[in-house]
Amino acid sequence: MQGETSRIFALRPRLSARVRARRALLALSALVLAATLIGRAAVRGPTTAPAAAPSLTPKATPASSADSTFAAGACRTLAPTTRGRGQTVLLDAGHGGPDPGASGTTTTGKRVNESQLTLPVVLAAAASLRADGYRVTLSRTVDTSVARLGPGDVTRSGLLSLAGEHADTQARVTCANRSGAAALVSVHFNAFSDPTARGSLTAYDSARTFSASNRQLAQLVEGDVVAALNAAGWQVPDRGIIDDATLNAPALSAQANAYGHLLLLGPAAAGWLSTPSAMPGVLVEPFFLANATEATVAADPAGQQAIAAGITRAIEQFLAVPGGSAAP
Ligand SMILES: [Zn+2]
Repeated sequence: MQGETSRIFALRPRLSARVRARRALLALSALVLAATLIGRAAVRGPTTAPAAAPSLTPKATPASSADSTFAAGACRTLAPTTRGRGQTVLLDAGHGGPDPGASGTTTTGKRVNESQLTLPVVLAAAASLRADGYRVTLSRTVDTSVARLGPGDVTRSGLLSLAGEHADTQARVTCANRSGAAALVSVHFNAFSDPTARGSLTAYDSARTFSASNRQLAQLVEGDVVAALNAAGWQVPDRGIIDDATLNAPALSAQANAYGHLLLLGPAAAGWLSTPSAMPGVLVEPFFLANATEATVAADPAGQQAIAAGITRAIEQFLAVPGGSAAP
């Protein structure tokens, strides 16, 4: 996402040095979260070949009857593999298809994209949750957008357009709502211009009727992901939880700036988001891909498994407590 960062700054209003300094800390955390604020175009290189589809149970079915909302391989619901608990979890692999998200280079020089790394994390978490009796809806199961994109959603150079970015996130919200999920966890990886930036953070929205649950889920996800990674031998700085309304994240459109929330998690806004996500949700960014050490762990199947284990534990803790599964 190196190009994305410079593009954000290029389109950002000029701020005084004092304001810039004050915002620097938040901006560090906010840069990639801003991608989900919408109104931000993904910057990518030439179209890459889609990754091989992961093996899924033949029982995988669309969360709703087939329609034109979702791309092939998007919004799939997987039954529990043990006796069901009657609860559904929505796992969202950030980016995908014409939106590769952030990129980085491992210590061995391998280039990695955020969209490639978020998918194995959610697939691993889905397997664990299903084995524990939960139904899991995945916003995507392959390297694709979630929305079935139209002509105006992709630029001539193969980038997701602003309209496409908005449509794709709206499709993730629609998928979550149709699934009837009791909790939503979106997985991303962070980016920043400074390659020494490190650490995990989890964002939540405080402007919903169920914001107390959002915050509770964020604390669980952040704590459990960091604990799982540390238990596996990686010392990951804990950057804590962050309210998406305080991000001051730069965005590429006036509408996105005015909205000021993560579109996936935030409230309705006339003309921008008619139907918001209907369940407690968070967006976790366990690593900075701009940091070679963290990119290496993010690309390591053992690192992905550890993140998945933390997410699984957090969701199960959240859904086990009274009120934890309370949707509005
Ligand atoms: Zn992202």
